[in-house]
Amino acid sequence: MTNDEMLLLKGEMSEMLRLMKKTFYSNEEIFLCELINNASNALDKIQFEGIMNNSVLNDELIITLIPDKVNKTLSIIDNGIGMTKMDLVDHLGIGFYSAYLVAEKVILTSKHNDHDQYTLESQPSSSFIITKDINAQQLSRGTKITLFLKDNQLEYLQETTIKNLINKHCQLITHPIYLWSESNKDHWQLINIWLRNQEMYDKFVAQKLGNHLPDDLAFSILFKLPLKSLKRYGCLNKSWALLLENSNFMELFRINFISNQHSYYDDTSHLLCLDQLDKSSLFSLSGRSFQNMEKVNWSKGHCSRYFILGSSSINGILCLYPPNSGTMYLWNPSSGEFKIIPPSPIEYVPDSMDPNFYYHGFGYDCARDDYKVIRNLILFPSVHIEHEPDYEEWDIHGSWEIYSLRSNSWRKPKSDIYIYPWCEEIHKFYLEGMCHWLGNWRESYDDITKKNLVSFNLSNEEWFITPLPPLDIPLEIYDNFNINLVESHLFLLNGSIALISNYYETTTFSISILAEIGKKETWTKLVTLGPLPYLPRPIGIGNMSNILFRTTDGKLAWLDLRTHLVEKLDVNAHRMICQLIVYKENLFPTLGINS
Ligand code: ADP
Repeated sequence: MTNDEMLLLKGEMSEMLRLMKKTFYSNEEIFLCELINNASNALDKIQFEGIMNNSVLNDELIITLIPDKVNKTLSIIDNGIGMTKMDLVDHLGIGFYSAYLVAEKVILTSKHNDHDQYTLESQPSSSFIITKDINAQQLSRGTKITLFLKDNQLEYLQETTIKNLINKHCQLITHPIYLWSESNKDHWQLINIWLRNQEMYDKFVAQKLGNHLPDDLAFSILFKLPLKSLKRYGCLNKSWALLLENSNFMELFRINFISNQHSYYDDTSHLLCLDQLDKSSLFSLSGRSFQNMEKVNWSKGHCSRYFILGSSSINGILCLYPPNSGTMYLWNPSSGEFKIIPPSPIEYVPDSMDPNFYYHGFGYDCARDDYKVIRNLILFPSVHIEHEPDYEEWDIHGSWEIYSLRSNSWRKPKSDIYIYPWCEEIHKFYLEGMCHWLGNWRESYDDITKKNLVSFNLSNEEWFITPLPPLDIPLEIYDNFNINLVESHLFLLNGSIALISNYYETTTFSISILAEIGKKETWTKLVTLGPLPYLPRPIGIGNMSNILFRTTDGKLAWLDLRTHLVEKLDVNAHRMICQLIVYKENLFPTLGINS
């Protein structure tokens, strides 16, 4: 026996097994639950380590089960924290030994991140051998336990038996469990089906963390979660709900939120589109504080004045439209691809009316692999005619139209909604399958209109209306407060829907982010900024939590939310519409689908 080998004589082992068999004599099935719980705990531990060290785990944390009917073995594998040699010697207990309720021999191989791989081989009647494992298949991290089943326990190789057991005993396991299946085409089947539904998943995580974690530990994990998960967990666990009202906790959450750049901004740059009344110019911004500007040529020259729909490119494509026109363009500046969107076949426009188009969103429908535009068309009484127009024909809500690149045509969406169609160019964006904008919405035709976040799902064409959060009313205007004088700006901030609000002519801005669309109670106040007398108007938000403002002297300036430092740009933006666009290059052709 070499130094790397160790023989353990476990005298009390057979006694323990005898007792266990007595206790569980007709309930051997609990072995699977014990081993899976151990695997799941090992995954929790590595996950927790990852969070604490701010390191990223590159692999998905999973448990795999492999029944092998030929060799009569069942293997349970996890890529969790793994065990060191000392863990193997000291720690294994009842949970592990329960394997012997169904197995005559067990081989355990484990690899801890900072240690060598070890194998423990045992037979219940004799002893354990622990060997440093250089010959066996190497695990990158984690533990593999192979049970050599007794001849009267071969039912545990059956798919249905395993699935039933998992469903019966392992419902609190929140890591995916995959079963190797001969009958399944791609062989791996996710068998803890409750993980396929996000809400159930959150419920399990909350229950689980709630049962296992002391509050101070929960505190240090929770502030790093996305707001959406935080709110959900808050609904499920009372002491966590209180955290959301705890100022220290929210301060940590806020700092973490604005200082960690969201992956949305990976490999992106910024474009600035300036509308100079008779023409528009597009610039790419670079440099530490985006101070370098380089003109980007809109070489096709189809229109000299245009806006960009939304606040970002979608797979490298920009959607451009000249004001007051039915024409639109799709353009990929990095590949040069270009396409004119055909006009919609407006069915009937009486002579006394003019069509007006209001553009709301451009985005990607991943369900159909399609690019879509949503806009509103209103027929206004024509200014060119002398006689009184027929107001009967004037529908101030207009009608909605959707363009699909795949079909290269316009059509009406599944349902209409009463939204006042006008929305400022800068308050529209696309995020994860949905177009969002700030719109005046009214519940019924004769209701008053209120400003809301309007969201449209490009795949199922559902509408969502989210009322805006209330503004903290500045003391000096408390008595004369008029809700119509609240100014609201809708942007994307670090991958979240954010609202920047201030009261008319004051420059104290309140920034809130939204956790869940349609649920106004999930707006969470992030920070109050100001007063910023020099920066009256936010234009857009770039990466690294930088907000672009227009200054009182008509220039542009960045404010860094993390440091509150302001850097002025030498750009004259007086009376111009400025759009800040987050741009991500894509050299692959996309627009050719039907052109
Ligand atoms: P007990 O029932 O006393 O918890 P177990 O045999 O179930 O005994 O587990 C004992 C310890 O062994 C656990 O607390 C854990 O530290 C370690 N352990 C067991 N299984 C694993 C595994 N798959 N990965 C990492 N560590 C494990």
